[in-house]
Amino acid sequence: MSSPVWHPFTQHGLGEPIPQVISAAGAWLDCADGRRLLDGISSWWVTTHGHCEPRIAAAIAAQAGRLDQMIFAGYTHPQAETLARSLVDLMGLPHVFFSDSGSTAVEVALKMALGHWHNRGERRHRLLVLAHSYHGDTIGTMSVGERGVFNRAYEPLLFDVETVPFPAEGAAQTTLDALEALCAAPEKPAAFIVEPLVLGAGGMLVYPAAVLRAMREICAQHDVLFIADEVMTGWGRTGTLLACEQAGVVPDLLCLAKGLTGGAVPLAATMASAAIFESHRSDERARMFFHSSSFTANPICCAAANANIAIWREEDVLGRVAALGAALDAGLADLAVHPRLHGARRIGGIGAIDLKVADAGYLSDAAPHLRAHALDAGLLLRPLGNTIYLMPPYCASASEIRNAFATIGNAIDALPR
Ligand SMILES: *Cc1c(COP(=O)(O)O)cnc(C)c1O
Repeated sequence: MSSPVWHPFTQHGLGEPIPQVISAAGAWLDCADGRRLLDGISSWWVTTHGHCEPRIAAAIAAQAGRLDQMIFAGYTHPQAETLARSLVDLMGLPHVFFSDSGSTAVEVALKMALGHWHNRGERRHRLLVLAHSYHGDTIGTMSVGERGVFNRAYEPLLFDVETVPFPAEGAAQTTLDALEALCAAPEKPAAFIVEPLVLGAGGMLVYPAAVLRAMREICAQHDVLFIADEVMTGWGRTGTLLACEQAGVVPDLLCLAKGLTGGAVPLAATMASAAIFESHRSDERARMFFHSSSFTANPICCAAANANIAIWREEDVLGRVAALGAALDAGLADLAVHPRLHGARRIGGIGAIDLKVADAGYLSDAAPHLRAHALDAGLLLRPLGNTIYLMPPYCASASEIRNAFATIGNAIDALPR
């Protein structure tokens, strides 16, 4: 009997196999049929330390028996208070608003930016975005993301934004000039939203920290709010706790999700500057921040995040990311000589390389071919178009990474020409 489950980003008409995973530990997933898969993409960029990390699993179990869920509008609980204080210490922004996914963290940031100008009596609603960005799949986050086949059907509902070109190698000045021109326009923008240092879904497109810093400075000069979407890049993925650290910048609004709980349970946070909080604080109820979701600051999820932060404080997480980075470099160096590949790049625990493709039709076939081949060889891989990448949990060993690259090499050799 076929399953009633409708899967995300899955074309059920193709009849591709859908493995059933029953347990996980470290960098490995165990399937119902006995197969084991190396989680080459951290279960879609969320698992940081490893699956079923013991300290996080224990915190979840303990909290589930103590306080499971409660209203967060006008009430609070110790796990949320502790977590908010830790986030303020770690991230350098004074206020924390909880939600439950990366998309909602971004929606909240956009609403806070618009609310900020509204409450100050300034008419500002233009939003600036970087080309090839991804910020989520809700209507608002699709609006600030790259337009394409993913959102064509919904295009009539998406709001207009102004796009700054991606700072490709040698083209950074074009990006900065475009941003400067948009910020200096008479009708001032409300905010500029960016994925710091690496555009994930756009194809693991990496750009220099100096460009991130220059973009942040342009926004500051023109009093345009700077929103850093660190949903993917945060929690060590780029080699530092936040990608923004590498550019020495602090945004006005910061979006965190995925790795906030080590990737075990869903939780998100939008952090805001004092000015943005203050523009909403008043004795008028009409100026409060009108947003909530049922599971805002769920205690079990906050307990998981507190355990994650304890790991960050007590263990050498960045040392593990650095070791993973060295293993990725070694594998990429071997792959880079392959005649069908080019553009090897690595930042933190993310390694990527592009397949040379002749035409878009071919492009649409390469990713599922590679995915299927890797699956047969025990590797969970999910290329983005012609971009093949590895983003494993930080606990993945050098030999596991070596094997993953060998599998990728074989999968490429097995591609039809
Ligand atoms: C994954 C992602 C999101 C969306 O997060 P969800 O938890 O899937 O809603 C937003 N921004 C970036 C940069 C992401 O990588």
